[in-house]
Amino acid sequence: MAKSIRIQLEPQDHPKQWYNLNADLPSPLLPPLGPDGSPVSPDMLAPIFPMNLIEQEVSDKRWIDIPEEIRDILATYRPSPLHRAVALEEYLGTPARIYYKNESVSPAGSHKPNTAVAQAWYNKQAGVKRLATETGAGQWGSALAFACAQVGLECKVFMVRISYDQKPFRKIMMQTWGADCTASPSTETQTGRDVLERFPDTPGSLGIAISEAVETAVGDLTGSTKYSLGSVLNHVMMHQTIIGLETKKQLEKAGEGKPDVIIGCAGGGSNFAGLAFPFVYDKIHGADIDIIPVEPASCPTMTKGPFSYDLGDFTGMTPLLPMHTLGHTFMPPPIHAGGLRYHGIAPLISQAIVEGLISPRAIHQLECYSAAVTFARTEGIIIAPETSHAAAAAVQEALKAKEEGKEKVIVFNLSGHGLMDMKGYEAYFSGALEDHALPQDELEANLEAISGYPKPEQRRSGRW
Ligand SMILES: *Cc1c(COP(=O)(O)O)cnc(C)c1O
Repeated sequence: MAKSIRIQLEPQDHPKQWYNLNADLPSPLLPPLGPDGSPVSPDMLAPIFPMNLIEQEVSDKRWIDIPEEIRDILATYRPSPLHRAVALEEYLGTPARIYYKNESVSPAGSHKPNTAVAQAWYNKQAGVKRLATETGAGQWGSALAFACAQVGLECKVFMVRISYDQKPFRKIMMQTWGADCTASPSTETQTGRDVLERFPDTPGSLGIAISEAVETAVGDLTGSTKYSLGSVLNHVMMHQTIIGLETKKQLEKAGEGKPDVIIGCAGGGSNFAGLAFPFVYDKIHGADIDIIPVEPASCPTMTKGPFSYDLGDFTGMTPLLPMHTLGHTFMPPPIHAGGLRYHGIAPLISQAIVEGLISPRAIHQLECYSAAVTFARTEGIIIAPETSHAAAAAVQEALKAKEEGKEKVIVFNLSGHGLMDMKGYEAYFSGALEDHALPQDELEANLEAISGYPKPEQRRSGRW
């Protein structure tokens, strides 16, 4: 079988600036709102985040310099390779050329260290001593643990109880990098103690873990502990844009003019944004590109959820964010792509959907696993269950190009490897996995809970 072609960049080709889509959106982003419906000002976020990151969060500057010390740490695993999937193309018999950007080469095995390193560094600059965060299956917790070890910060991770018990290896990775990982709900916070008193056997949830991590940051009155989030926020999307900026140079090096299709899986949206936003810039300036974020059909935030204000977490520790959402009380079925089971999606991505710049798609998990197995058997890499959604869409697009007889250039983001996720593959092979569609009545019931929140249209027309 033909080998895939790997396109590398030289060290001098590292991006030196991040790209901020907020500078180029046709209509500006709407602000986060407090519980009373008034905009949250930057200093209201100061107990949670350091001011240097808050400035990035609200910035509308197009380019933001990447400090040299951050670039030095990133250079230990970047630029990541871009591969041409020759074997997959041959297997599918498609005239399309399929490329994938391989973010699985980072120490934690995904794109997440790209923002973890930046966030840890800015916190260190601001005099912070410790970062607190939450993690579901452990991908974000392990990325932040790695980053904190690199810059010399303590790291406190609240890991959802059920994953803590069922997926011990990510927890041991965090420990190896020196982080303190606790099962959530824990007895270390008021939130955790309250939940445990009412539900001693609870499996925990991401919402509870977020509340515990935020409480830990806000509760440190010396200001030496801050909170860190791995997706959704504007500055996280921006830190990931090095993925797309590198990809542009690599495509050029491969002799490709411009891609026709750009694909990424989307949970909170950061790896998709990282690859796609530099191409969204081209699209805003007239390029004809299909840009596709892919979500699970069982958690169809972008394709079925309305664009509304909603809470970022279950308990209401976060402001209201303008985003496509299934409602913060939505409980997704236990599908194996844990990183894609979030009720909302980044405000920047939501706004790009509203503007018609990107076209979301939902795919069922059996089709995704089938694509992942095909990918492993042709290209060799065992991808994360999250990433399988991007691979499945790339296969769909390659087969469509075959039908149309078109030589399209398709690029997808390989957000991470699946070597810590073999339970999902095991379930797939044993026939234990099922597709879940979200029933309409369940969708409507969860949206009922947010029906009283401000609507983005009202805010824009000054009616809120
Ligand atoms: C966390 C994760 C995702 C989903 O998060 P985004 O912010 O949407 O990128 C996707 N793929 C992998 C491998 C992950 O670890």
